[in-house]
Amino acid sequence: MKTQVETAGDSFEQFGLSEGLMRAIADVGYEMPTPIQLKTIPLLLDGRDIIGQAQTGTGKTAAFALPILERLDRGKKTVQAVVLTPTRELAIQVAEAFHTYSKHLTGLRVLPIYGGQSIEQQFNRLRSGVHVIVGTPGRIMDHLRRETLDFSHLKFVVLDEADEMLRMGFIDDVEWILGHTSAEHQTALFSATIPREVRRIADRYLKNPAHVEIEHKTLTVPTIEQFYINVSDAQKADVLTRLLENDRDESGAVLIFDRTKIGAANLTEKLQARGYAAEAMHGDMSQSQREAVIRRLRGGQVEIVVATDVAARGLDVERITQVINYDMPNDPEVYVHRIGRTGRAGRTGTAVLFVTARQQRMKSEIERFTNQRIEPMRMPTKADVARRRIALFKERIHATLRDEDLDLYLTLVGELAEESGRDIAEIAAAAARLAGGDKPLEVVAAPEPEPRTASHVARPTSGENGMTRLFFDVGHHSQVRPADIVGAIANEANVPGRAIGAIDIQDHFTLVDVPSEYVEQILESMRGSRIRNHNTNIRLANARDASAPAEPVKRTAHKAGKIKKDDRKGFKKNAKSPRKKAG
Ligand code: AMP
Repeated sequence: MKTQVETAGDSFEQFGLSEGLMRAIADVGYEMPTPIQLKTIPLLLDGRDIIGQAQTGTGKTAAFALPILERLDRGKKTVQAVVLTPTRELAIQVAEAFHTYSKHLTGLRVLPIYGGQSIEQQFNRLRSGVHVIVGTPGRIMDHLRRETLDFSHLKFVVLDEADEMLRMGFIDDVEWILGHTSAEHQTALFSATIPREVRRIADRYLKNPAHVEIEHKTLTVPTIEQFYINVSDAQKADVLTRLLENDRDESGAVLIFDRTKIGAANLTEKLQARGYAAEAMHGDMSQSQREAVIRRLRGGQVEIVVATDVAARGLDVERITQVINYDMPNDPEVYVHRIGRTGRAGRTGTAVLFVTARQQRMKSEIERFTNQRIEPMRMPTKADVARRRIALFKERIHATLRDEDLDLYLTLVGELAEESGRDIAEIAAAAARLAGGDKPLEVVAAPEPEPRTASHVARPTSGENGMTRLFFDVGHHSQVRPADIVGAIANEANVPGRAIGAIDIQDHFTLVDVPSEYVEQILESMRGSRIRNHNTNIRLANARDASAPAEPVKRTAHKAGKIKKDDRKGFKKNAKSPRKKAG
C-alpha cells in the first residue's frame, strides 16, 4: 500500500510529463502527487480506462486533467475531451483547473458548458475551436442534439462524481451522451461510492477498467481536542485571524497547514502584515532555512508556522499546542499526521479543521477513518475578540503592577498631571490607549450577526437527526421534480446533492430536509431563485406545513437514482446534538 505520507520520495517527475505541465505544477505549488494521482496518472497515460473511487478534495481533478492535457493534440482544433459534472459549480471549478494546468500549453482551449449561460455565446466559442469541454449533462445533450458539438474526434470521456449525477437524476442523460460517443476513446469514471447503477454504467461503457482506490489503515489519533468550523473560501483568512486572537494559547505555538507552497508563503505574509511572528516552512526552502525556523520556533521568537505537509514531516516541537488545518488535507491519513504535531510530550493540544461546503464529505471520511468525532466550533465574534483583547491587556497591566519597579514612571505621571492639569485617571487612560498600539481596544456592544456555523442555526421543525425542513412554494403544479430541487440547492447554495434529505413534493409546495448546518446558506443564497422558471420563495417549514398534507406524503425518490432517504449516508454521523465549544 502506498500512501501520501509514506511515499516521501514520490514526485511529479516520475510521470514523465512534458515541460509545460511540470512548470504549471510548480507554479501552483504542489509538492508531491496525492495518492489518487500516484495511482491514476500512469494508468491514464498508458491508455487504460479507470474507475477511480475518490471524492472531492483528494486531488482527483489533476489526476485526470494532467494525463488528458499531456495526450491531447493541440494542433487539431477538435473537441478531444469531455468531462461531465453534476453541477455547474463543479464544471467551472474543473474548467479552471484545466486552465491552470495548461497555462504553458499555448493554444489549448477549454470551455465550460452549462445551463443558464447564453447558448449563442457557447455556439461561437465552440465554432472557434475547443479541445476540452467541461459541463453538466443537460446542456451538453442540448448541443449534441443541435449538432453544435461534434464528438467524432473524442479521445477522453470523464464522468466526474458519477454517484452525484445519479443522485441528481442525471444518469439517463449521462447514458444518452455516452451512447453518442464513438468507441475510440478512453473513459475515466470518478465516484465517491459505486452504487449499482454506476457499476452498471461502468460495465457497459468502460473497457477493461482498472479500479483505483485509496486504501487506508486505521490510525489511532493522539488525545487531542478536535474541532471544525464551517467557512467559505472567502472567509478563511478572516476566521483564522479571529481564531488566533481569540483562542490562542499564548504560551504555545500554532502550526497552520496550507496545501501549497505558494499558499503557505502568501498566508505567512498576511499574518506578518497583521503583526504576528509568523514564518513559512515549505519544500522550496533549503534544509538549513527550515532548521532556522524550527530553532526560532523552539526559542519562542516565532509563534506561528505556516507549513505544507511535506515540510512539516517529522516536525517535533513541544511548543506547538494548536494545529489549524487551514486547507483541508487531501487524505485522512494526512490529517492524522498533521494533528499529531501537537499534544506532544503529554501536553494538551487542540486541532481545528476549516471545512467549506464542498469538503463536508472529506470531514466525514476523516471521522470514519479515525473513529472519532470532530466537534463543531463556534466562530469567534468581533465581540469575543474585543473581550479577549481587553482581558489580555488587563492581565499585562496587572503583571506590570505586580512585577515591575515603577518609581521612575510614577515621577513621570506626576509631571504629566501637573503639566496638563488633568487627573491621574485620565493620564492612565491616555497611556493605555498608547500601549494598545495598532490593535485598539474597542468595546463592541451588541453582538453582530454571525457567519454560518453549525451551532447557530434555528431548527424549528428539525428532527433529532440534525436535519431541518425547508418549505419551497413550488410543487407539482409547477412541474417540479426532485432533480430540480436538488439541482437548484446544489448549484445556488453550493451544498452537496447527497447531503439533501427527503423531498416531499405536494401540489403547491415542497418540503425538503436539509442538514441544519446548511440552512442559513441555503436561505441566503437562494433568495430570488427560479426553479422550473418559477420565482421560488423558501423559508423554514413550520409545524403547520409539516402536518399540512391531506393527500399521502410522496416520499419521492430522486428520479433515476431511486435513492431512499436511508441510503443517504454521510450526514447521519453528524446528527447527534453538537456540543459547542465554550466561548
Ligand atoms: P480536487 O479533489 O481535485 O477537488 O482537489 C482538491 C484540492 O487539492 C484542489 O484545491 C487542488 O488544487 C489541490 N491539489 C490537487 N493536487 C494537489 C497536490 N498534488 N498537492 C497539493 N494540492 C493539490
